[in-house]
Amino acid sequence: MSDNIRVAGVSVDTRHWIGGERVASAGTFTDRSPIDGSALGEIARGGPAEAEAAVAAARDAFPAWAATPRAERARILHAVADGVEKRTEELAIVETTDNGALLRSHRRGVMPRVAHNFRFFADWLLRLEHEDFETRGHTNHVSWDPAGPCVLITPWNAPLMLATWKVAPALAAGDTVVLKPAEWSPLTASLLADIAAEAGLPAGVLNVVQGYGSEIGDALTSHPDVRRISFTGSVPTARRIAASAAANLTPLSLELGGKSPLLVFADADLDLAAGLAVEQYDNAGQVCLAATRLLVEETVAEEFTRRFVEKATALRQGDPRDEATDIGPTVHPRQLEKIDGFVQRAVAAGARAVVGGHREDGQYYAPTLLTDVAQDSEIVQEEVFGPVLTLQTFTGEDEAVRLANDTRFGLAATVATGDRERAERVTSRLVAGTVWVNCFFVRDLRAPFGGSRQSGVGREGGTWSFDFYCDLKNTVTAPEGWDQDHG
Ligand code: NAD
Repeated sequence: MSDNIRVAGVSVDTRHWIGGERVASAGTFTDRSPIDGSALGEIARGGPAEAEAAVAAARDAFPAWAATPRAERARILHAVADGVEKRTEELAIVETTDNGALLRSHRRGVMPRVAHNFRFFADWLLRLEHEDFETRGHTNHVSWDPAGPCVLITPWNAPLMLATWKVAPALAAGDTVVLKPAEWSPLTASLLADIAAEAGLPAGVLNVVQGYGSEIGDALTSHPDVRRISFTGSVPTARRIAASAAANLTPLSLELGGKSPLLVFADADLDLAAGLAVEQYDNAGQVCLAATRLLVEETVAEEFTRRFVEKATALRQGDPRDEATDIGPTVHPRQLEKIDGFVQRAVAAGARAVVGGHREDGQYYAPTLLTDVAQDSEIVQEEVFGPVLTLQTFTGEDEAVRLANDTRFGLAATVATGDRERAERVTSRLVAGTVWVNCFFVRDLRAPFGGSRQSGVGREGGTWSFDFYCDLKNTVTAPEGWDQDHG
């Protein structure tokens, strides 16, 4: 077996990256492209031994990296960003081939954002400070000390974007990292290891281990030398990780699922609202933030639905490498099964498919809108993670807010209204980490990002990321000549 595979002409190493070296495993797993199901290659299948080696490498590299001056850490992170920018086209085509998301999005949105993740946290590091303050003449000085080795575990729906959103602040903070990408999209993390090494990141500061979460996960998350665990993925896996981390009380950051609402009031620009709704099919609906529950004021429901159907049926589904494609495949046959299961059970329970409701050829699922769904039904309460929306109607703000908040999630919400005061009233009552008014997916790394309720624990972004990846310390210094007994 060769250790390098060629994916769309790009050479990708299929082994782990531990302590600055490529490391093979006895076992492998097959990585397939969702575009046509073809095998891309055999990837190293890590277990407890590789977890142990990677954490040891991160632990050994930590003292020197933590002691590296901030300006030097920032310089290296900018060099990583340069490497990402130089290889944008390669990263974009490899990620599209690996997880099926649109090439045009990877080229123009995602990969530039990956580079930005490194630049942003490098620059933020240099500005990170808290004004000193006095207590009876004593100076309080707050500092962000590097915490230690971090385990970062990421999903397949936006692999490199979500991984670097953790890797960049952790490295900026002076921590060392073991990154475990999802087994359905392992490739760009391996390329990131190459780019980081070329940028001069010292050996052991970033380690990448591959494999199934069920086989390598526990050894990483229960390790006593790990100081932080940051996870983006599903609620059941988060529970498992939290239980495993409990042994050492390792601090956790959890970015989990959602069942976010889009509230459309009668005073909204209905064309804008229908456009926002159709946007939820982006990445075949495999987006944590997706507003999958359309809540529409009864008086405009018919007109909204008409405009929605017009836009939804104009979408082009097909090969994600084609610039004209709007919706690509689902990531994996198992995901396709899961999505179809949700839809078929909903239909059996009385839901009506206004559009879609069925599979297409290959790993594609038709963009779907279901109506006649009950608030307490599975399709309204559970995350599908596919191109499936539900539509319910409401009368008045109180009912809109009640329906919007009535799930166990609280990741995001979107409100479409032409009335600013209504927007303020409604947004203040919504339980969500991010709320958009008359827009969707506008994100800024300076803002806190995360979920309420079972959508997550903690917030990422700006100083919030450093608060998580650092040990905050307050140093209190007495004034000259201070007499502790008689002061
Ligand atoms: P998942 O929970 O199945 O897997 C995520 C990662 O966890 C993978 O790398 C997997 O290998 C690993 N893992 C699995 N078992 C593990 C274990 N026992 N210990 C340690 N690691 C383990 O999630 P997924 O299917 O890859 O991703 C989809 C989910 O992610 C959805 O619920 C989606 O909403 C969520 N998500 C959330 C955000 C956010 O920012 N809130 C962003 C993207 C995706």
